[in-house]
Amino acid sequence: DLSSDRENGLTFSVVAEHIQEYGYNKIDVAKEKGPLLIFLSQFHNLMTYLLLFASGLSFWFDERLDAIAILLVILINSLIGFWMEMKARISMSALKNLASIPAKVFREGKLVEIPGEEVVPGDVLYVESGDMITADARVFNPTQLTVNEASLTGEALSVEKLEADLPAETPIADRKNMVFKGTFVATGNTKALVVATGMKTELGKIAGLVQSSDQEATPLEEKLQTFSRTLIYITIALVSIIFAVGVFTNGDYVELLETSIALAVAAIPEGLPIVATLTLAQGMMLMASKKVIVKKLSAVETLGGTTIICSDKTGTLTQNKIEVNEAKAADETSEKNKDILLKIAVLCNTANIEITARKTKEIGDPLEVGLLNYAHSKDISIGTLRKEFPKVKEDPFSSESKMMATLHHSKSGYLVFVKGAVEEVLKKCTHIFSGSKSVPLDEKGRRKWLEVSENFAALGMKVIGGAYKEARSENTSLTEDLTFAGVFSLMDPPAKDVVGAIEECKHAGIHVVMITGDHPATAKYIAVQLGISGEEEIPILGKDMSAYEHLTKHEKQAWLKASIFARVSPSNKLDLVKVLQKNGNIVGMTGDGVNDAPALKKADIGIAMGIRGTQVAQEAADMVLKDDAFSSIVFAIRQGRIIFTNIQKFVAFLLSCNLSEIFVVSVVALSNLHFQLVPLQILFINLVTDMFPALALSLSGGDAFVMNHPPRNPKTPILDKKQWYGVWIHAAVISVCTLLAVYISHTFFHTGTQFDPVLCNNILFFTLILSQLFHVFNMSAPGTSFFKNEVFRNKYIWYSHLICGLILVLIFYIVPIRSALKIKDLLPEDWLVIVGSSLLSLIIIQGIKLFGKVEKAPK
Ligand code: ATP
Repeated sequence: DLSSDRENGLTFSVVAEHIQEYGYNKIDVAKEKGPLLIFLSQFHNLMTYLLLFASGLSFWFDERLDAIAILLVILINSLIGFWMEMKARISMSALKNLASIPAKVFREGKLVEIPGEEVVPGDVLYVESGDMITADARVFNPTQLTVNEASLTGEALSVEKLEADLPAETPIADRKNMVFKGTFVATGNTKALVVATGMKTELGKIAGLVQSSDQEATPLEEKLQTFSRTLIYITIALVSIIFAVGVFTNGDYVELLETSIALAVAAIPEGLPIVATLTLAQGMMLMASKKVIVKKLSAVETLGGTTIICSDKTGTLTQNKIEVNEAKAADETSEKNKDILLKIAVLCNTANIEITARKTKEIGDPLEVGLLNYAHSKDISIGTLRKEFPKVKEDPFSSESKMMATLHHSKSGYLVFVKGAVEEVLKKCTHIFSGSKSVPLDEKGRRKWLEVSENFAALGMKVIGGAYKEARSENTSLTEDLTFAGVFSLMDPPAKDVVGAIEECKHAGIHVVMITGDHPATAKYIAVQLGISGEEEIPILGKDMSAYEHLTKHEKQAWLKASIFARVSPSNKLDLVKVLQKNGNIVGMTGDGVNDAPALKKADIGIAMGIRGTQVAQEAADMVLKDDAFSSIVFAIRQGRIIFTNIQKFVAFLLSCNLSEIFVVSVVALSNLHFQLVPLQILFINLVTDMFPALALSLSGGDAFVMNHPPRNPKTPILDKKQWYGVWIHAAVISVCTLLAVYISHTFFHTGTQFDPVLCNNILFFTLILSQLFHVFNMSAPGTSFFKNEVFRNKYIWYSHLICGLILVLIFYIVPIRSALKIKDLLPEDWLVIVGSSLLSLIIIQGIKLFGKVEKAPK
């Protein structure tokens, strides 16, 4: 019916037809807002309503120019808001695509990897352990296939799937011959014919129950929204006071009303939440370009607060290029023993290497590839050996059992080969190879081999034990009555850039913990080499981790500082996350296997490996490292911190600017001076001095201290007490200098002439603008020099100032704007006062910063 073929899958022309007919394999829960709706929603906020009210008033009092100008301001503001929201959305959807799960399908006979959205009915899927299933499909040719359908049925245990004909009315939960979108393969592999995609899948049908695809507000955005709301109330209170006082002292009722409204508008930082979202989204894009895919906006925020990174060893902290160092047979004098050890290396092994004249292609687990390379170096032909002893059965490797076993045909019957962690393999052995036969294994022998393994491990090597047995029937147990054959020691060198990254974590107060399934001595050797732990540390074993609950308070403290956990199973990982979180940590946890998913979900930042990780782990994680590198985690944390400090910067900047406007207008209003800023001037100041520099600040690079202080607690407010003091003090300095400019100009430069309110107003206006523009440079990290810091070096700041400068020049030449802003020609000495006073505010604030600095400049 679907024009497909069991072997070859679909042809490309049928694929094109099916895309036309069935659409893309996507589940759309909530319809995304269209651009028009996004544009219109920009008008739905308190500021716009206030402005509309002000504009209406102006019309009423026949101030048409003002009225139109205010409408224009509303339009410009909305356009900026629209542009920012669109940009944030575009980045978000680009990121969603990056994080989408691929599917393997047969097309025209070739197995290809395609984006999951492009799977169509009729496609022949190939899925294996750890893969997410991207569409509903009928199973055929399965091998030991079990699927975890918890996401669909809630059943935590995996179910077995087979090729079968079932009656059409079989309930979904019993359709053993089907796999469903959104579930994942726990073990085995299969081919499957896709019968439904997108909204037609079982998952699509219950899409209403699935979480909405809309991004929820991140905790940061929520904090900003509350922040804005509080400010609105404060402003309303202030405005009421000014208004009330004004009504008693000043007759100009209309102007007072307009000033009050404009003042309110000026003080409300409506742009805050969206600039914050934009900053987070851009941070995500930057990380994506560095191979770190962050899947949720809120994760960017959490990243900066990470206090502990729990990292896998193999492949993240080490290079994952595993080479055999030595094969040590139980009886080193016996050629037969050596031969058995080599057979274990090749036959109890699921990897493959293809060696051609030009290059070697390696497929599978690096440890097993290492063993194959070793056998090859001993002139063993892997293909021939595998043909001679065909595999009948396999007990696959798992992190829980820490070993694997295979059963093979041989000329004289059957052979069992086992390899795995030495202590686990020894548990299953009753005999050991000696002379040319198998002899009983006693306690002394066991101890000797545990010691051998310990000694290799202490040199940083992985140790794998090997065992075998001969059997008559294929129903023999694969893990009983084995004969110990010896050990392999393998080297996996530490990854090069990790040392620096760990050093950086130490400075940043982030505790790094190694979690490994490997031997404690191997783990320790690598940990010491990388600077994760000291020589004196004793690794904690997975099996001892449950003892935590019974420790004394003092012991618990020490336990929480441990940096090596060895012989750990995935369920231990979950327990560790829980304990660490209970003790107030923000935990980043890496993982790659199917069983790691719960720990990844539970961690504050679940980190999956893009190369080594299974799709399930990637699905469960908050962040995917495309290069599997530990240093990428540290990069992401640094970026998270930079983004947060940038948000703090523009919040502090916007607040101090707005406050300074409130101060100035309040003083002028309350003292009944006659050069009050007109509403349009305040709006202009906010459009010019708020928007561009604030956006530019959000793009600053990191300051020198960003990884020099302990992580911040995500629960604390955006600005701490000290920063709040800063905001108030800076605002006060700017207001005083601005008012001082008017005073100086009036008493020193225009002594002979009559009091000119327009001139005073202009001086106030321009001084306020200039001092706010200069104020951007006060936003650098405390303790940095004026010229050498992340703000001064931020090119966007200079662009924004260039734009602002141009706009300032233009308003002199565009007559309608000039008259709307009530600007007159100023003398050079007036400009001298304006620039001088603005500079004065900069110098004073710099002085205050210098005086109050706590952090020392880095060496
Ligand atoms: P990490 O947890 O840092 O990735 P790991 O790969 O050694 O380290 P696991 O994969 O849980 O951790 O393996 C645990 C132990 O099982 C290893 O130390 C090793 O002794 C054994 N082992 C690992 N891979 C295999 C394999 N393919 N076959 C048999 N035994 C293995």
